[in-house]
Amino acid sequence: MGFYLCLVYTLQKWNEPLEKKHRLLICSDNMMIDFYVVDADCLIHYDIPSNKQNFSMRFSVLQNSSNVMINKERSTYIFLSNNTKDMLQLPKVVEVMKSFGNGKVDPILQKHAKNLTDSLEKEKINCFFCSEIQQFGYCSRPMSCKSRHILFKQLDEPGVNIPRSGIAIVKILNVYDASHMSAKLLKLNCTNNVNDEQHWSNVVDYTDTINHKLSSYFSKRDSEVLHENPKPGDMVAVQVESTSIKMIDTAYFRALVINVVDNNTANSKVMVKLIDEGYIETISKWKVFVLPDMLKSVHTTTVDMFVASIKPIGFDKTWPTQANHCLIKHLKDVNICNNTIIVKVKMALGTTIWIKKMYEKYWDTDLKKYGLREILPEILLNTGYADMNFEHIGNLTELSVSAGIAKPLLLKNSFEDKKELSIEEYMSLYKLPQP
Ligand SMILES: [Zn+2]
Repeated sequence: MGFYLCLVYTLQKWNEPLEKKHRLLICSDNMMIDFYVVDADCLIHYDIPSNKQNFSMRFSVLQNSSNVMINKERSTYIFLSNNTKDMLQLPKVVEVMKSFGNGKVDPILQKHAKNLTDSLEKEKINCFFCSEIQQFGYCSRPMSCKSRHILFKQLDEPGVNIPRSGIAIVKILNVYDASHMSAKLLKLNCTNNVNDEQHWSNVVDYTDTINHKLSSYFSKRDSEVLHENPKPGDMVAVQVESTSIKMIDTAYFRALVINVVDNNTANSKVMVKLIDEGYIETISKWKVFVLPDMLKSVHTTTVDMFVASIKPIGFDKTWPTQANHCLIKHLKDVNICNNTIIVKVKMALGTTIWIKKMYEKYWDTDLKKYGLREILPEILLNTGYADMNFEHIGNLTELSVSAGIAKPLLLKNSFEDKKELSIEEYMSLYKLPQP
């Protein structure tokens, strides 16, 4: 009852016609909602609340403030105390400041926020690199995204057998979506000439050996040692039910833990990426075992493959189902005809490659010779599913350069080996205005 009277009294005071003197209401987040004040002139945050909802809710007190006086400016002040908990919120506060009001933020504050974001990113060394940056070159929610947005030389330097440029013959293992696949590297060629016949070298594939070793190792019942408390990034051995396996009949695989699903239940599930098979599976945590060390160090020849410099049309971050099906159908036909898939590699990080083109090499029965047909990005651009994404590789390169993985791009280098440049590559050196 006392609380109710206090509420009514406060509200009456608040709603009295405004004269020369201003009124001040000091209240907690919990109380604020009961007052339903919507016409404040100024909002002062004396601290940063622990959750985002409370923070946005506070701004509701400003929604009708212009009713009270003409040409009045709404304003808000945010006090950040110098403790770590509050200072960690600074980058988010700066974002709010940019999106509210006139968008002007003091450069010193921006610099502080940037430094803080950078050091917070460095703490994410055990997190996966942001999948949106991998696929499209930027993250749409960098403040709340739990993934890593910087690269580390020791983690992201491409493996010894992963091509950073040139061309490769691959076997597609799995299509995640229209611009993300997994593939096995079969042959590499460091020239950029897709018609080259001479400079191919085979990629030695240890997958069968690894799978064979795993099955003989785990054939002894007591070698199954449960990998307890799996964490994202852990390299493990997993047992997969034979019904869910696509082509191979071995039951144990090398895998990378991606995520632990429903952690609190007795039978929690673990999402893993099968390193050598190139697909993602969710399995019971009781099927996750310790991987013998000798099998950890063997390099994989299976890569994640992204199509460079394209994005779904409009502002969408995901490909329409039709686009994905279009690619799957195309690849199925390539498979039926037993045609070879050749990709032009743009860049690489870890065991991920970005390709600028994917071709199929087919036998032309009329001309009695091999022909090349572009698959990607052609089929996505032609069908209107995709748009060019000019920042994609530029942003990834910038991150690689900051991590000391790639050298800064020099135009001069490209001119030195003239013989390897095609006309389209020559043209790409000249920045023509886009329509
Ligand atoms: Zn992200």
